[in-house]
Amino acid sequence: MTPLNSGAPVRPSGAPAPGTGTSRVNTYATLGIRPIINACATLTRLGGSIMPPEVLDAMRSAAGCFIDLDELQRRVGERIAELTGNEAAYVSSGAAAGMVLATAACTAAIDPDARTRFPDLTGMKSEVIVQHLHRNGYDYAVRQVGVTVVEAGTDAGTSRLDLENAISAETAAIFWFQGAMNRPTELPLEDVIAIANAASVPVIVDAAAQLPPAENLSRFTKMGAALALFSGGKDLAGPQSSGLVLGRKDLIEACRVHGNPNHAVGRPMKVGKEELLGILAAVQRYIGLDHDARNRGFEETVRFWNDGLAGIPGVDARRDFPNEAGQPVPWTLVTLETTERRDTVVAALRSGEPAIAVAQAGDTALHLNPMTLRPGEAEIVLARLIEVLRQIP
Ligand SMILES: *Cc1c(COP(=O)(O)O)cnc(C)c1O
Repeated sequence: MTPLNSGAPVRPSGAPAPGTGTSRVNTYATLGIRPIINACATLTRLGGSIMPPEVLDAMRSAAGCFIDLDELQRRVGERIAELTGNEAAYVSSGAAAGMVLATAACTAAIDPDARTRFPDLTGMKSEVIVQHLHRNGYDYAVRQVGVTVVEAGTDAGTSRLDLENAISAETAAIFWFQGAMNRPTELPLEDVIAIANAASVPVIVDAAAQLPPAENLSRFTKMGAALALFSGGKDLAGPQSSGLVLGRKDLIEACRVHGNPNHAVGRPMKVGKEELLGILAAVQRYIGLDHDARNRGFEETVRFWNDGLAGIPGVDARRDFPNEAGQPVPWTLVTLETTERRDTVVAALRSGEPAIAVAQAGDTALHLNPMTLRPGEAEIVLARLIEVLRQIP
């Protein structure tokens, strides 16, 4: 192997070169960290997702040499835009970072003075509209930029008039959240886009967990949303600290201005060269996946769980669809008789050996999700659940 710094002075003998000497590989085990079988979801708290070999290879090759980060971000963005059928693309350090950058882009565009002043919004549009029904923990990423969230509608729902009345000269953008927060009484995205377009206000869709289906990568922007945001570390199985901002070229350019390495609001949300090549590999892989075969596998796992749990007293196991994020993927709903038993079972799975994470559902049920399992783990989940159900009557 050619030394990286072959022209450098020779080291005094006895001083080991960096990276040589006793090999100490840090692993979860050496740190006393127990691995967790994830039958829950692509949760950030559990590590997002598991990266496949092609993503790891891309990250490893990215880590091996210096490049111009701006140029790489631009080139990767072009490739991802092509692959996903969008006008332009920017890689953020996650969907939440995408929310910060998209908000900054809509308030300050590329104004070089404005971009160093957040959260001071003097002279900029200072409001972002969110339907009351869509309010959730992630909207802090929008408020972080300094904008005020103006709510449209109430708990009961949102009308066209509610949204029209919320729009003013201060409106920088309308955020639409897609996922567990969607309700039948919300103002549908089609209507939101139509009203926003009439007022020349961009609509940003937080679609962080809206994969599968892969077509969603262009669905929201084709509907007329200005930008759609996705997590790289959920079903895309890219680096956990990566995300996609997809859509309108002028806004993507503005995201670039507000993002690392510029001294701007996005500077602390760095996307490294490793994440850039990693997420590109992940998008390429995801688009090429046989999603039908994958779904058949999920259906099989759910049937296997339901059959295995059938006939256990006090337990009702059945297929549920779609899952909590609205992904068109089946999962198993296991309903027990009491909240106490459910809570005890969930806690026992999590603290047992091996540790297994499952999702609580409603008052007395839990969900088993096949999406995040590795080969062989569906069997372990079933065996452990049956064992725990026996121990906790
Ligand atoms: C996961 C998620 C986010 C945050 O995504 P990151 O990639 O972890 O930053 C934002 N919004 C919703 C609806 C999510 O599900």
